[in-house]
Amino acid sequence: MWCGVITLFPQMFKVISECGVSSRAIKEGLLGLATWDPRDFTTDNYATVDDRPFGGGPGMVMLATPLRKALESAKRAAPRKPRVIYVSPAGKRFDASMARKFAMNDEPLIFIAGRYEGIDQRVIEHDVDEIISIGDYVLSGGELAVMVIIDALTRWIPGVLGHEQSAPNDAFSEENAGLLDCPHYTRPATLENQSVPSVLLSGDHQAIKRWRKKQSLGQTWLNRPDILEKLTLDETSQALLAEFQQEYES
Ligand code: SAM
Repeated sequence: MWCGVITLFPQMFKVISECGVSSRAIKEGLLGLATWDPRDFTTDNYATVDDRPFGGGPGMVMLATPLRKALESAKRAAPRKPRVIYVSPAGKRFDASMARKFAMNDEPLIFIAGRYEGIDQRVIEHDVDEIISIGDYVLSGGELAVMVIIDALTRWIPGVLGHEQSAPNDAFSEENAGLLDCPHYTRPATLENQSVPSVLLSGDHQAIKRWRKKQSLGQTWLNRPDILEKLTLDETSQALLAEFQQEYES
């Protein structure tokens, strides 16, 4: 999987290139990550990348020409024809299925991270294939949004996660019926007066699997009832959820 990023703050990407799962994926050659700074494609002495908006109003807008030149350079470096994504609050909401689809398609991706009030609309209209938002709030820049997307899709690149931590076990996965994850515990079994649920110490794999499913359903019911409303639960799941609700309310 190859990702290129057009950004005024390439140094921010050290966070994913030097830490954690994504850095390991890069070292193992499973993820390619490269950045292009529009400032490197300016021609004036001040390396200008923004200007005042036509029509007046607050803030600045990123200039189209340095962005386009950076994009052209990134496209030339891409291993195949890339998909160009602009991150913006005005985009389609990013979710787990998008992350998985990007990783499975293995199409090279070039992200444009906006700053200021955003980028000149003509770049969006002419050069961008897709607009993605990471949520209904406004960040100061697109870099964190791009890193969120790259981190989430990296977990789905075959070979990145070991069997133990595989992405299908995580919240929102199809394998998990789109539910939230169950709670996790580790040593010690008793922490002051808090004990680990005894079933997890029982060694009974069937009972543990049942408990985890019940907890997933229960956590989803407690924290994301909107997800449950969209699901049709089979009889076993309905019974497990009813059991969770009874225990919770007693
Ligand atoms: N004026 C813009 C608006 O109201 O939609 C906000 C611009 S924001 C300060 C600067 C940049 O941050 C945007 O161009 C975009 O690239 C990025 N950004 C901000 N919030 C985002 C979000 N929720 N999802 C994705 N990108 C976001």
